[in-house]
Amino acid sequence: RLVPVGLVAGIALTFAIVSLARLQMSLPVALKAALRRKEFILEYQPIVDLRSGRWTGVEALVRWRRPEGEVILPDLFIPLAEQNGLIVKLTQLVLERVCTDTAAFLRAHPDFHVGINVAPADFHAGGFLDSLQHALRQMGARESNLMLEVTERGLLDPVVARETTGLLRRHGFLLAIDDFGTGYSSLSYLESLELDYLKIDRSFIEAIGTGAPTSQVVGHIIGMARDLGLRMIAEGVESQAQADYLRRQGVQYGQGWLFGRPMPFWEIVRHLEDQAAREGGPVRAAG
Ligand code: C2E
Ligand code: MG
Ligand code: MG
Ligand code: MG
Repeated sequence: RLVPVGLVAGIALTFAIVSLARLQMSLPVALKAALRRKEFILEYQPIVDLRSGRWTGVEALVRWRRPEGEVILPDLFIPLAEQNGLIVKLTQLVLERVCTDTAAFLRAHPDFHVGINVAPADFHAGGFLDSLQHALRQMGARESNLMLEVTERGLLDPVVARETTGLLRRHGFLLAIDDFGTGYSSLSYLESLELDYLKIDRSFIEAIGTGAPTSQVVGHIIGMARDLGLRMIAEGVESQAQADYLRRQGVQYGQGWLFGRPMPFWEIVRHLEDQAAREGGPVRAAG
């Protein structure tokens, strides 16, 4: 199963790189135009309760869909958007899309979480809190429906990090530290921040059961998150063995190809309807 997946990913990446090479000279310009034309769509990947298998939330992942139909993945344009001061605009667009895609569902499911990725510049830009609240009003959703994912790198400045996480938390948003383990946050630093979730980076999940040195680290990360009272989401769960290990270690949630690839929101809704039908009741988000 892994071979064809890798192959497909490789081909997709090659396509993206070729198409980017064609755009290369003017990539920031192309990106700017794409923002104006709103050439971005979202896919949603389920976040799953490792004990019950229920889907309790999703992460919104942005894709650049070029007019010719090719789809470019975020790792190839987010860094560029950050370097060129375009990320704040992109985050706005992502919020807009989240509203369009999920508003009706969220109004009926107050316990369901939609995670969005935010960049340091979003925090620094004035009015971020206002735009979040505006989006929620439009959706008829509440703060606790939105989970903001910030990478460790995005929380480098202790003063800004403490202020922003504190402010957003006081307003009722859920906060997650993303790609955890790839940065250098110390225990005491994390303790000073107001966080709800810690997302364990895929590189550590990959190492589970391999005997590689990294596979030891995941146990330490889990212990630390537990000590800090943070709930954990394991990223990049691809095998049942990984999921079993994580559940045994007390990790509450998982996200990865084992459970579902990023998909359009209507597919998420369809799954949740099936889930509810199996359970013989209305769609219930959190268990
Ligand atoms: P992330 O926030 O850590 O998102 C998880 C990434 O892991 C996604 O890649 C997802 O498709 C991928 N993934 C999930 N499960 C598996 C698995 O089982 N195996 C493997 N190999 N990969 C898995 P994607 O969609 O390419 O996004 C990459 C990164 O781009 C994200 O990492 C996030 O940092 C950034 N990004 C995505 N959307 C946005 C956005 O709207 N705004 C910002 N600022 N950044 C975004
Ligand atoms: Mg994320
Ligand atoms: Mg991540
Ligand atoms: Mg990542």
